[in-house]
Amino acid sequence: MGTAKVTCARCAVGGERYVGTVKDVAIVGGGVVGCAIARELSRYRLDVCLFEREVEVGFGTSKANSGIIHAGHHTTPGTLKADLVWRGNRLWRDLSDDLGFGFLQNGDLTVAFNEEELQTIEEIEEIGVQRGVTGLELWGPDRIHRKEPNVSRDALGALLGPTAAVVNPYEACFALIDDAVDNGLDLRVGAGVDDIEVEGDHLVVFAEGDRTPVRAVINAAGLFADRVSRMVGLDDLVIGARRGEEYLLDRRLAGIVEHTIFPCPTPTSKGVLVIPTFDGTIMVGPTADPVDDKEDLSTTTEGGDQVFERARRLVPGISERDCIAEFAGLRAIAPDDDFVIGPTSVPGFFNVAGIQSPGLTAAPAIAELVVGLLTTSGLDLDPKPELVTPAPRPVRVSELTVPELEMLAFRDCRYAHVVCRCELVTEGEIADAIDRGARSLDGLKFRTRAGMGRCQGGFCTSRCMQLLADAQDVPLSDVTKRGPGSWIVREREEVV
Ligand SMILES: Cc1cc2nc3c(=O)[nH]c(=O)nc-3n(C[C@H](O)[C@H](O)[C@H](O)COP(=O)(O)OP(=O)(O)OC[C@H]3O[C@@H](n4cnc5c(N)ncnc54)[C@H](O)[C@@H]3O)c2cc1C
Repeated sequence: MGTAKVTCARCAVGGERYVGTVKDVAIVGGGVVGCAIARELSRYRLDVCLFEREVEVGFGTSKANSGIIHAGHHTTPGTLKADLVWRGNRLWRDLSDDLGFGFLQNGDLTVAFNEEELQTIEEIEEIGVQRGVTGLELWGPDRIHRKEPNVSRDALGALLGPTAAVVNPYEACFALIDDAVDNGLDLRVGAGVDDIEVEGDHLVVFAEGDRTPVRAVINAAGLFADRVSRMVGLDDLVIGARRGEEYLLDRRLAGIVEHTIFPCPTPTSKGVLVIPTFDGTIMVGPTADPVDDKEDLSTTTEGGDQVFERARRLVPGISERDCIAEFAGLRAIAPDDDFVIGPTSVPGFFNVAGIQSPGLTAAPAIAELVVGLLTTSGLDLDPKPELVTPAPRPVRVSELTVPELEMLAFRDCRYAHVVCRCELVTEGEIADAIDRGARSLDGLKFRTRAGMGRCQGGFCTSRCMQLLADAQDVPLSDVTKRGPGSWIVREREEVV
């Protein structure tokens, strides 16, 4: 491999980075897919770097989804998506045990309202059984209403998928990337790849003025994978965007349902769902509308009306009056509606593209598949003898008992200073998030939940900004929402 072992700058406890003149692998894109691949590759004696154009990882589609780890029975048979979803489901469970991020196996219920839909859920059950999905059960109306009293009384039957779960997608991204970095990944954030050239037997990646020679490039650039593919002269990959609007409801509705509630799917969509999030709130959505603009993250009146009307059909107690936040995410869609994963006609250049839903679920299985493809292409994969023990999950004061909090605050009084009242987030948690790599208000929000509650940051934004500015020793006007171009305040101009 021609690599030399050096100690990773971030790891005092034996993390190793293998550095050669030509790197082994460059991953373009730090969404959940790129992070999962990076984490998998960091287990081998390889020199790997990841380029992410945003200021932190997980800021693309991976931050704006429903957070469901699908059970695996909803995905269309005969697709690559279907092959990877059930494996991904099982791998997430293991990853959450290893890395300590939150994972709640709440199960899902697909509800049928008429004879035709009853037949469809039986067919879906059959697909799931053939795929190996465990625990599927058909429920009649009595069982539905005993277990989920707030589901519509019009439901005639439902299919239970007990292995479905929910995660915080950004927490999962951070856990994957932190572990990869601890085990030697060279992470480059704020580093948009602007060109890739073929040079002899390797490729050269250009990002923000830097030139990085590599043996293999993994194109995991989400919506922009087609643009990255064109950099090596391939124009056969076309990625479209399908927008999904999601609506987050007040904690008042926590517990209205326990399972994630699905309508009976149509051949083109899983439909609008009622989702109990990992954090104990309820989310309804998403829509599925093709859009031309890959930066268009707007929500719309029509989208909101559609979501609430459909959500109410499943759970009549849901009301738009409880909405505290809304957002949209864009699914990256390849023309045949399936994942595009594999080598290309350019030696060393691999596409991992068109990763639409259930891409979050499939991500760890995609990472395994990519490692297999790299091995087949001749990359020598030698497991590291020792891996760094994953860092403990950050403290969440809102989850502590009063005596636990007292003990913690006694050791570090910053855990007694509340910054976000709605979500009960303290200065200690904010400082810890900054230590772990938060560089923007969104980075703090996704790591700690500060600003995610009922007042949506009305109370805590200025304090979070001050803590970020102090930690980075910069003026307040340098603090951004999500990186360059998203500044929040301007320096006061001198009035003469
Ligand atoms: C509304 C909605 C709901 C969903 N719900 C679910 C769900 O519940 N369960 C599920 O399994 N899936 C769900 N999905 C799908 C899931 O979110 C995606 O499949 C997944 O996030 C895709 O991850 P990714 O890493 O491929 O893409 P991304 O997260 O978009 O990552 C790609 C990264 O590449 C970076 N990038 C782009 N160009 C460059 C460049 N030139 N240089 C460097 N970096 C670059 C981007 O900044 C971005 O961070 C949902 C999707 C949407 C939109």
